[in-house]
Amino acid sequence: MVDLASLVVDVPDFPRPGVVFKDVTPLLASAEGLAAAVDAMVASVPGGVDVVVGLEARGFLFGPPVALALGVGFVPVRKPGKLPRESVEVSYALEYGEETLALHVDAVGPGDRVLVVDDVLATGGTAVAAAGLVRRLGAEVVGVSVLLELTFLPGRALLAEHGLDRVDAVL
Ligand code: 5GP
Repeated sequence: MVDLASLVVDVPDFPRPGVVFKDVTPLLASAEGLAAAVDAMVASVPGGVDVVVGLEARGFLFGPPVALALGVGFVPVRKPGKLPRESVEVSYALEYGEETLALHVDAVGPGDRVLVVDDVLATGGTAVAAAGLVRRLGAEVVGVSVLLELTFLPGRALLAEHGLDRVDAVL
């Protein structure tokens, strides 16, 4: 049995002094680790997911294998200026500054049951912003799935405030 936690490496003072960054690249580089991580994410997915929405950038690494395993498609939520066609955008506050996310207007729509996938849930701001874009297009967010939840931060509580009660983390 592969020890997934040992494949996520703490990097002190990245990207800023005082922050301990969880580096998932050793897990991605491990054939066993990657397979076990994707299997674990897939195992917790609620029923009836139609589409996986992955968040730039590391949601693009875990989202597609989860989508393939579920037999559904993958849709990217991107940083601004990257999507080539008409998009909806949302800006949200970060600890320092602001971020914007974008989603093609025809990527999801009414009746779609969406699983939001990312690598790490920290404050929850990114997942809440992405869920808002999905909802603006009329689709339903049925779950949020991450590899790792930083449980010392109130991300899960922020998601719950926004009606996102189904949050699954492998680590
Ligand atoms: P939040 O919006 O929940 O505060 O931050 C989550 C977003 O920032 C995710 O897209 C995630 O990729 C990134 N993130 C924040 N902290 C970390 C971290 O320690 N490690 C990694 N890999 N990503 C992080």
